[in-house]
Amino acid sequence: MKEITVPDGVPNTYMPKNYLREIVVAKESDLTLFSYHAVLADLKPLLDDWVPVERMNLFEKACKKYGLFVSKESLFIDMPFLDTEKTIGKKYMTTTKKFCAPIGSNYLGIVHVFVSKTKKTLLDGRGFGWYPLAINGRVIPKTRYDHYKFGEFLGYPKCCIDFFWKYNDHNKYANTLFLPFKNTKKPNFMCNTLTKDSHSYAYHIPCSFDCKNTANLASMLREFIYLKDPKYGQIIDKCTKKIFIVFKERDIYGFEGQVNGNELNYNNCYFLDYALYPAKYIELFKKGNRLKVTDERIIIYSRSKILSEIKKERPETGFMISFGD
Ligand SMILES: [Zn+2]
Repeated sequence: MKEITVPDGVPNTYMPKNYLREIVVAKESDLTLFSYHAVLADLKPLLDDWVPVERMNLFEKACKKYGLFVSKESLFIDMPFLDTEKTIGKKYMTTTKKFCAPIGSNYLGIVHVFVSKTKKTLLDGRGFGWYPLAINGRVIPKTRYDHYKFGEFLGYPKCCIDFFWKYNDHNKYANTLFLPFKNTKKPNFMCNTLTKDSHSYAYHIPCSFDCKNTANLASMLREFIYLKDPKYGQIIDKCTKKIFIVFKERDIYGFEGQVNGNELNYNNCYFLDYALYPAKYIELFKKGNRLKVTDERIIIYSRSKILSEIKKERPETGFMISFGD
């Protein structure tokens, strides 16, 4: 099963006709293709990505064709029974956990790569792009400085980097995405990074879903993408201009329909990303065509008949946001 899902009318994997087609072919994936556009448009100094080790030669060739330099960091390998429960300092670990091996070792896995338009940026930036590492049951947490510098190299606006550092603490907040939501006056689809792992105009978590600096960068990227590959631009627009119910990062449902206050009439719904969560409520949502979101619960209706209720853990887990026109 493909982990990332997209709304109806969007292909499972978008294959560009010309521009950057080789990158998608090499990776066998269109995920975060917009980041390559951003680097080539000089809107992002550096990107990081993951490429299957057996596709690396093809990937490096594709990057070369577009004048992009590549640096390989290390090899990430899936270990289904990786037990991290007893690890000292486990709260510093990322949500995704992988076994790590040096480049050139004989494991089958995915290579963490950095890509940039200049060799200098690549050399200067790649040292900041490491993940917290557990060695012999102890975590080496990444320093705040390295996180900050990496955000700068990835081209994230300063307001968003600052915000992220103050509030992106999963141990402290039940839903870290609720904080940018609370700062939002009018959601702007160009700041919609809920769909960042499929199609979006930015990858970072913004300080608000109408952050001016993010919207500026995103609109320049959108212009570039519409120039190089208008069909891809249309797909990003389609994926970002939707309605979402957000339980927490990566636990997000997308809807097509009409919002009226805290009510939503919908005709389609999907779960964005199966990598970490199992889409617990998708069948309930699919049975209905209308819902109401309150601080305590989400009530699902078929027309006026109540079908089911989801009790919210906290008011902020399960907020609704609409990026529609
Ligand atoms: Zn911002």
